[in-house]
Amino acid sequence: MTTSRYIGRFAPSPSGELHFGSLIAALGSYLQARAQRGLWLVRIEDIDPPREVPGAATTILQQLEHYGLHWDGEVLWQSQRHEAYREALSFLQQQGLSYYCTCTRSRIQQIGGYYDGHCRTLNHGPENAALRFVQHHPVLSFEDKLRGKLIADENLAREDFIIHRRDGLFAYNLAVVVDDNYQGVSEIVRGADLIEPTVRQISLYQQFGWTVPDYVHLPLVLNENGAKLSKQNHAPALAQGDPRPVIHAALTFLNQPIIAGWQDLKLSELLRLAVQNWSLPAVVPGSS
Ligand SMILES: [Zn+2]
Repeated sequence: MTTSRYIGRFAPSPSGELHFGSLIAALGSYLQARAQRGLWLVRIEDIDPPREVPGAATTILQQLEHYGLHWDGEVLWQSQRHEAYREALSFLQQQGLSYYCTCTRSRIQQIGGYYDGHCRTLNHGPENAALRFVQHHPVLSFEDKLRGKLIADENLAREDFIIHRRDGLFAYNLAVVVDDNYQGVSEIVRGADLIEPTVRQISLYQQFGWTVPDYVHLPLVLNENGAKLSKQNHAPALAQGDPRPVIHAALTFLNQPIIAGWQDLKLSELLRLAVQNWSLPAVVPGSS
């Protein structure tokens, strides 16, 4: 019997500083890891330079420190991992599990928004082409530890999705799987906006022959219009100054027990009690 240690992570992209919604993902993954005496890693997902904001990664790390969310080990930067992504791509290529696609976005829109495998047998070269994964074994559902069995959109699950973009950037689904496996992540706790690509990620784990981690998708923080808080819809910045009211509000959002007298506690003590009280089943899944 092998007993493997719990390893969790928080993996923000530096497209802006943390807001209350991303703090929920950070805090939820932190508490879930610490409650199991596991490791909590931080990875900066800086693989999409056009979408990145200069200085945002540094700000995010400073914010985590400010809120007392101290990570284990060194931060992993996806911008330093290109060699690993290239290796993963060449493995898939050698297995005959990828092909170049020159189809335009407008062609795919015209056929209903999902790719139809048009280029699978056309043997295009890499020039001005995206690389797609051959989806022989679609994953149609997965078990979420908070939400139970989640059924995938079948069109999405069956699609030959992009693993290397036409503009030369590595695709999110490829990088996230390669890195979570590399870091030994045993459970992924993240926001419900990432439920959709999970089945694609699981199918990559299976093709690589890697152990699929457990999944937990936390509820999203919505604004008054019912939209997810995000940089795109101008989520307000987290308050500077005393971190404790923000942590308290985040614990309340996650439906955790109220910690009596939290205003009088040190931040480290507040977080220690939050770890001690942490209950994943108490989190209300919410809309997704
Ligand atoms: Zn194509």
